[in-house]
Amino acid sequence: MSFDVQALRADFPALAQEVNGHPLHYFDNAATTLKPRSVIAALDRYNSLDTANVHRGLHELSARATTAYEATRGKLGEWLGVPESEVVYTRGTTESINIVAQCWARENLRSDDEIAISALEHHANIVPWQIVARQTGARLVVLPLNAQNHIDLEAAAARIGPRTRLLAISAGSNAIGSLNPLPELIALAKAQGARVLVDGAQVAIRGPIELPALGVDFYCASAHKMFGPTGSGLLWAPRELLEAMPPWMGGGDMIETVRFEASSYAEPPWKFEAGTPNIAGMIGFGAALDYLQTLDHAAIAAHEDALLARARAGLEEIDGLRILGPRVHSLPLVSFVLEGAHEQDVATLLNENGIAVRTGHHCAMPLMAELGLRGTIRASFSAYNTLDEVDHLCHSMARIARLLRA
Ligand code: PLP
Repeated sequence: MSFDVQALRADFPALAQEVNGHPLHYFDNAATTLKPRSVIAALDRYNSLDTANVHRGLHELSARATTAYEATRGKLGEWLGVPESEVVYTRGTTESINIVAQCWARENLRSDDEIAISALEHHANIVPWQIVARQTGARLVVLPLNAQNHIDLEAAAARIGPRTRLLAISAGSNAIGSLNPLPELIALAKAQGARVLVDGAQVAIRGPIELPALGVDFYCASAHKMFGPTGSGLLWAPRELLEAMPPWMGGGDMIETVRFEASSYAEPPWKFEAGTPNIAGMIGFGAALDYLQTLDHAAIAAHEDALLARARAGLEEIDGLRILGPRVHSLPLVSFVLEGAHEQDVATLLNENGIAVRTGHHCAMPLMAELGLRGTIRASFSAYNTLDEVDHLCHSMARIARLLRA
């Protein structure tokens, strides 16, 4: 295994295009990553040759589709270091969290129980808990940030207590980049006998994290942030938890027998997978995992750190520009504001230079309120980005800052 950024770039056809007369500089990877050719080919193969519904068909196309579709479960098990029978297919992180909220939390939480989340969470890891809190009488407790915009561990220790039944925490903030201290937070939750859900949306691309060893009870991720297709993702939980949880949706494929009086359900994970699934999406997810298995993730992490350091150094030179995320323990992204400039104007001008960034609240409105901001400009990097591209971002931002101040 080796890492050659130009060879990697050649695998991603989207990178070969121009936008507004400039080569595309794609810095919106925290929202969704581009897809390599092998994933596009897998989607194309299913859509053009192997089109069939899965599981019940005895004909050749259905057998091919089912084999390719179910193979992704084993690949996910390998990627996460867990048994494939504990991997539930979902539409993505949002659906995975909602399944835990409705099928575990709603069943197990009582009035005055507490769900601990952090001030950094994506709406997907806030709103499902608000809904279940209303249904059960449980309360949401928010772990605050320290001066570096990391979760404050001392305050967390004071807020995670005997009433805490669940800690639902992201591995890293999509909005400002902070990587959360998972082992320390999980230890605090476990000391109180609480369950732990980790929102892995931003880190699942980075390779296995030892979920059971770390003490995680539920893990959620999305394929489209891992070089895979949109509309597919996963929920992992140990078998005994999945068995104890009621189904998510009722319908075809999640049953054992159906009678008008009552029905019995399939074993997990299929108990949670009613209806015709996103077959192409899960097959494409499998191709993305095959692709990820060929990469040197330690080398990619070093490359992404170098991109981040270059971006921070270049952007910090610009008068009036303020970076929100922490200097250390960060995802490969810079989230910043430019004094006196509306972030949408900045993004529009960057787009004229072929640069794709994201602006706004990044689905983290409570965090923006905490920071006293309407939103930020976020450039998020992936393995295929280069130092030259980052330099183009920094030079363009310097020009835009001069223009908007003039
Ligand atoms: N959690 C985090 C940290 C995210 O960054 C995202 C997407 O940006 C989500 C959850 C929701 O993921 P999805 O929209 O794929 O369900």
